[in-house]
Amino acid sequence: MTTTYDVVVVGGGPAGATAATDLAASGRRVALLDRAGRIKPCGGAIPPRLIADFDIPDALIVARVKAARMISPTHKAVDMPVGDGFVGMVDREHFDEWLRERAAAAGAERITGQYVAVERDADGTALVCWRAGRDGPVERLRARLVIGADGARSAVARSCIPGGDKVKCVFAYHEIIEAPAEDSEDYAARRADVIYEGSLSPDFYSWVFPHGTQASIGVGSADKGFGLRESVARLRARTGLDRCRTIRHEGAPIPLKPLKRWDNGRDVLVVGDAAGVVAPASGEGIYYAMACGRMGAEAAERFLATGRAAALAGARRQFMREHGRVFWILGIMQYFWYSSDKRRERFVKICADPDVQHLTWQAYMHKKLVRAKPLAHVRIFLKDMAHLLGLRPVPR
Ligand SMILES: Cc1cc2nc3c(=O)[nH]c(=O)nc-3n(C[C@H](O)[C@H](O)[C@H](O)COP(=O)(O)OP(=O)(O)OC[C@H]3O[C@@H](n4cnc5c(N)ncnc54)[C@H](O)[C@@H]3O)c2cc1C
Repeated sequence: MTTTYDVVVVGGGPAGATAATDLAASGRRVALLDRAGRIKPCGGAIPPRLIADFDIPDALIVARVKAARMISPTHKAVDMPVGDGFVGMVDREHFDEWLRERAAAAGAERITGQYVAVERDADGTALVCWRAGRDGPVERLRARLVIGADGARSAVARSCIPGGDKVKCVFAYHEIIEAPAEDSEDYAARRADVIYEGSLSPDFYSWVFPHGTQASIGVGSADKGFGLRESVARLRARTGLDRCRTIRHEGAPIPLKPLKRWDNGRDVLVVGDAAGVVAPASGEGIYYAMACGRMGAEAAERFLATGRAAALAGARRQFMREHGRVFWILGIMQYFWYSSDKRRERFVKICADPDVQHLTWQAYMHKKLVRAKPLAHVRIFLKDMAHLLGLRPVPR
């Protein structure tokens, strides 16, 4: 083993591929280790901010969604039109591979294999152990820095980061179907349906997302005893989507909270789902994984340039500075609004409010809380409280 990589990135999803691209593009010697062979289970909804910040080509957007339909436990529907923009839908099979190829084009060396452990060289340098197949020999990559981007339940986080083995998760399951040829009341090619109903999910939500010729129908719940498959079967039967051919079905955990530490104080940093950065309430993780991958790459640069391990902690600080407040608000929303059908009913009702719609879309599309309308925030807060307490809505 003669090569010492500046960085070995473990995991080639949105977080790892972004970190590898940025570091390779700035001239660092990078290896991108990904186990391949499995499409990431994902609804694939991405905001315009992601498309702009990470230069995603049009060809990867398989559908442009123009509205969200929020559906209450008593089946009342509130439509939330996006306005001028759109929510992009990507197929993770092609999206992730494109991101990995971009990393390779920037100069990262792609390696296909499974991460096993981090060992230490005689001089203390990290050795990333990996194997190509389940029974293949263990090989080693020498690295000044290891970035763990191996998703929820990250093996890198569990083995190297204090607290990395204690991550609370929502379990999400979805079925990919052939999309209906025509729009109906229950399905539209440019509308994402989000269903809040305790019998379909006791603590999260269900969805029907269009994907061009395909659609994703799914559900999440942190309740381990809850039957996710049965729930999706009931939703499909109710919407008539059980008549569409199932292409594949799959599930995966979604982390609920950022880890308290993302680095080992020495030479390992985790990013993306491995660091727990999925937005509460919505389960949105692709944008945050890529933003986190980029911030991880910036912290890595500072670490490589100075040799100071303290530089690694900058990734978490920067992320929480930019997104911590939104995560906190969404966490409170999930706690309050997803806890009973009575509250879900009220939640869907307040989604009809134009102020709520405007602020929600601004926050989702651009990842910024709108400061220009402070009075709208106050009004929404008062309406939220009035709804929560079952009082009459506050007049505009
Ligand atoms: C059912 C479901 C629906 C979702 N819907 C949406 C949505 O619509 N919009 C949204 O924004 N987010 C959604 N999410 C969340 C989103 O998918 C994740 O937050 C996002 O993929 C995180 O990216 P990542 O790069 O951190 O991890 P991942 O995408 O999980 O990538 C991890 C990578 O690491 C590799 N890897 C894992 N273990 C090893 C190992 N031991 N050795 C080598 N390689 C390894 C994997 O092959 C993979 O390529 C959904 C999640 C689920 C489960």
